[in-house]
Amino acid sequence: MSRTGEDETVEVAVIGGGPAGLVSAIALAAAGIDALLIAPSAEDDHRTTALLAGSVTALTTLGAWQACLPHAAPLVAMRIIDDTRHLLRAPEVMFAAAEIGLEAFGHNIENRHLIAALQRRAAELNIRRITAPALAVASEPTGATIKLADRSLRARLVVGADGQHSLCRAAAGIATNKRAYPQTALTLNLAHFKPHHDVTTEFHTEHGPFTLVPLPGRRSSLVCVLDPPGAAALFAMTDEELAVEIERRAHSLLGKVSVEPGRGLFRLAVETARTLARDRIALVGEAAHVVPPIGAQGLNLGLRDAATLAEIVADARRQGADIGSPTVLARYDLQRRADVTSRTIAIDLLNRSLLTGFVPVHGARGLSLFLADRIAPLRRALMREGVTPAASQPRLMRGEMV
Ligand SMILES: Cc1cc2nc3c(=O)[nH]c(=O)nc-3n(C[C@H](O)[C@H](O)[C@H](O)COP(=O)(O)OP(=O)(O)OC[C@H]3O[C@@H](n4cnc5c(N)ncnc54)[C@H](O)[C@@H]3O)c2cc1C
Repeated sequence: MSRTGEDETVEVAVIGGGPAGLVSAIALAAAGIDALLIAPSAEDDHRTTALLAGSVTALTTLGAWQACLPHAAPLVAMRIIDDTRHLLRAPEVMFAAAEIGLEAFGHNIENRHLIAALQRRAAELNIRRITAPALAVASEPTGATIKLADRSLRARLVVGADGQHSLCRAAAGIATNKRAYPQTALTLNLAHFKPHHDVTTEFHTEHGPFTLVPLPGRRSSLVCVLDPPGAAALFAMTDEELAVEIERRAHSLLGKVSVEPGRGLFRLAVETARTLARDRIALVGEAAHVVPPIGAQGLNLGLRDAATLAEIVADARRQGADIGSPTVLARYDLQRRADVTSRTIAIDLLNRSLLTGFVPVHGARGLSLFLADRIAPLRRALMREGVTPAASQPRLMRGEMV
């Protein structure tokens, strides 16, 4: 870090201390880049994240996975059950990681444990953190200025990891394409009587998915997508009432359940930034794209953003290039575009196929799952693409340092 006049200057300022921002800062610092984290303390997040195999490999390579492991449950199989009352219903389909030579598709971990492990790793790497929010970001041809309450900072590159309502995205003048769904996700964790056998179960209902994802022991996380009044009604229930309702909706798959403290409600939308980088600002995670919680893609996409950006920035620096130049930012946008677009479209289509009352769409969804169930090579191709997308395999996801 150096000083020019009154403002401190850093190579990269990462704004936002959620998982995407923390992984960005760690990956950049691991590559020897002077990265500063501007991140107020995160609010309590009781959600969990199913981290797919590539994300786990990246966290292992960055030295952050060991601390996550005791809190993470392996996901060895995924079952999809059509629980709609549609005329044309899909068959039950089971996807097993062993079929594609993996022990697990990934691991499910509570966000609070993931964030704690990442914060610890960031501290080990001596990443400096300012626990105040960025109030404004302004870009000039040679760098960006970040305004804090008590001072300003200069950076050659700003990583906007500041979530759905990104200040950085607005500062770069980047518009988004957005579709809000008539759905709300109720999230909570629960203990249950029967073992989950490390199998995720996704019931597809007319309102959206009802997904039980294993946690260590006889615990699971639940993401229950409903219409907003339905979600609010469940949210208002007592723990006892809610436990009975969840057991009913889960067809007693896990036996008697008890609800843990920490419920969340999330309005669902799909939103994609029209470009992922401009004017010395590169967006990662939900600042760049928001997808509904189907198929555990959101943060996995965000971690691929972080890994790709760190790789491109590290390469540029090794070549002596300006790490925030238009060329570097264009390369980042180009490398992430196909992965982000293809996942967003697939999740949007799947979600809308559940919501529509149009019978041929139910038939098409049912047929796709029927074919996936019956044709093993197709099932394996779907699983491989879900876990290791052909469009994006940054070095960290392959176990190599940036
Ligand atoms: C119900 C649900 C279930 C999900 N399950 C999964 C799953 O199983 N697998 C998966 O991959 N994804 C999942 N996701 C998606 C995943 O939760 C998100 O992709 C992820 O949390 C986004 O992380 P992030 O770091 O980009 O943003 P956030 O976690 O929102 O972090 C943004 C951070 O920026 C900070 N910030 C904001 N403004 C400023 C500012 N001006 N200055 C400084 N800091 C600022 C905020 O305080 C916050 O800490 C799920 C999402 C939902 C809603």
